[in-house]
Amino acid sequence: MSRRLSRTLNVLLLVAMMLFITCSGFIGVTSCSSRNFEPGIMLTFDDKEIENWYSARDLFNKYHAKATFFITRSYLLTEDELSMMRALQEDGHVFGSHGYDHKNAIEFLKSSSLDDYIKEEITPSIQLMTEKGFEPMGFAYPYGSHTSELDHTLLKYFSILRATVVTTSEVRIKNLNKAYISKNNMSKIIYGVGIDDSYGNTLKEIMEGIDRAKKNGEILVFYSHVIKEKPDHDEKYVTSKSILEEILKYTSAKGLKFYTASEIGNLVE
Ligand SMILES: [Zn+2]
Repeated sequence: MSRRLSRTLNVLLLVAMMLFITCSGFIGVTSCSSRNFEPGIMLTFDDKEIENWYSARDLFNKYHAKATFFITRSYLLTEDELSMMRALQEDGHVFGSHGYDHKNAIEFLKSSSLDDYIKEEITPSIQLMTEKGFEPMGFAYPYGSHTSELDHTLLKYFSILRATVVTTSEVRIKNLNKAYISKNNMSKIIYGVGIDDSYGNTLKEIMEGIDRAKKNGEILVFYSHVIKEKPDHDEKYVTSKSILEEILKYTSAKGLKFYTASEIGNLVE
């Protein structure tokens, strides 16, 4: 063997060892993908508010923010809505499934089988969205309604499942551990905390929650529905545009990453 070849082999061996050490993290717990683990937030929006979400396109772009939109009743999507979705997808946003007909899974299972749930709510939704060019990698449970049996089964269809978690008078966002993804707590089932005005989480509390993500190197998961200047009288499920902008501005100023369902899915693989 020539000296040059032997030196090249030594360098290759060294690189391979370094990669192995980085990926295995010495103790064998940290996976290779966690090398890319950066603190951040994940913004998710549920239902089918395409035109409304599209109206926030410039706002998202202003802060280089990416979101995940979980779509239900995709059989009702119009051509106009599909083109708006394509534009959002080109901007880097991601679409997931929120069920074929927004059925409450636990309620459904009281009178029907899990097989029926998959046949009615899951496979037609994946098929239709895929046909329209939006293959869903993630799923958000309507009403946050799920069981561990559902989780287990649905993970055969999706790489990430999003449920919900609520704040209480004692446990506010910054202490709501379930809403955080951390290197030591990576699961394919993630929990979003609501930021619609009606959930009663103040901007200050949301910011404190983001501060924790930055401090601990975690990812905070949010969910929301409609984006509007202001909710109409007694209208629920609306995130005020000004609140959303403050969240985007704050996250971006803190140098945190905006994660989509695809990125989280890759991270927890
Ligand atoms: Zn919903």
